[in-house]
Amino acid sequence: MRTWQIGDVALTKIVELDVTGGTRFILPQATPETCRAMPWMAPHFMDGDGRLKMSVHALLVATPSRRIIVDTCIGNDKQGRTVPHWNDMHGPFLDDLAAAGFTRDSIDTVLCTHLHVDHVGWNTMLSDGAWVPTFPRARYLMARPEFEYWRDQRDVPDQTMVFDDSVRPVFDAGLVELVGTDYRVCDEVSLVPTVGHTPGHVSVRIVSRGEEALITGDFLHHPCQLASSSEARPFSPARPFGDGMCPDSLYLPYSSLISPPPLPLCSQVHRPGFPREYSVYQMLRFPIFRLTCARRQA
Ligand SMILES: [Zn+2]
Repeated sequence: MRTWQIGDVALTKIVELDVTGGTRFILPQATPETCRAMPWMAPHFMDGDGRLKMSVHALLVATPSRRIIVDTCIGNDKQGRTVPHWNDMHGPFLDDLAAAGFTRDSIDTVLCTHLHVDHVGWNTMLSDGAWVPTFPRARYLMARPEFEYWRDQRDVPDQTMVFDDSVRPVFDAGLVELVGTDYRVCDEVSLVPTVGHTPGHVSVRIVSRGEEALITGDFLHHPCQLASSSEARPFSPARPFGDGMCPDSLYLPYSSLISPPPLPLCSQVHRPGFPREYSVYQMLRFPIFRLTCARRQA
């Protein structure tokens, strides 16, 4: 468990799965040789051999008034997942939440940055053969364009299964609140549209007492993307979602979580002919990693 303090807001990271190496399908240009040239990434974001470290995790956000879980990982007992070992998991995720002081009943807000398989799993849990809301006292916040897109995608079997076992049950229970991509959750927490990875992807901005953090969702997969424009990838014409807006200030996530030197600006990732935002979003096609970037305001 790892924690950060952003002003009055406490962040706690609950890891469901750790992965070291095997990330070439996500970031094919991040070879061990390339990564070893970024020694600041070790030991937190790569091992000594230049293999990237990633994880599937949730972030608990405790503000003075709210207890929020951002993204709910893969979940137990799920079936039909395309990644073999994501099927029929029996992990201690809920025990880990409770150990961090977040029982299921104590969560008042579930926030999904997007509705990919590894971000919605613990929205539900299996009870007497049925999928029921894991957090029965919570409002589940989902961006309206994201929800509507995946609700209407009925021709992709594995994604249909994810929606039906991890999203539809909480919607049918009346717990889902469809919100705008710039929705303000509370004084300290608001959504930022980072469309591109999916049609309604949002990041989560936390501002308190002059400090700021951005939970990126899959807007970024790994810090190496902040340091190297070579990780920009061709955007799939089959998924032409990249038309989002994001304040420039949020492209300055040089991180208090990483030792200096500060990272180059994301805005260096720019392809001529496209708005800067569009180029950045092109990097962000695949699931698995969520990076929390924090910086202290000047
Ligand atoms: Zn994703």
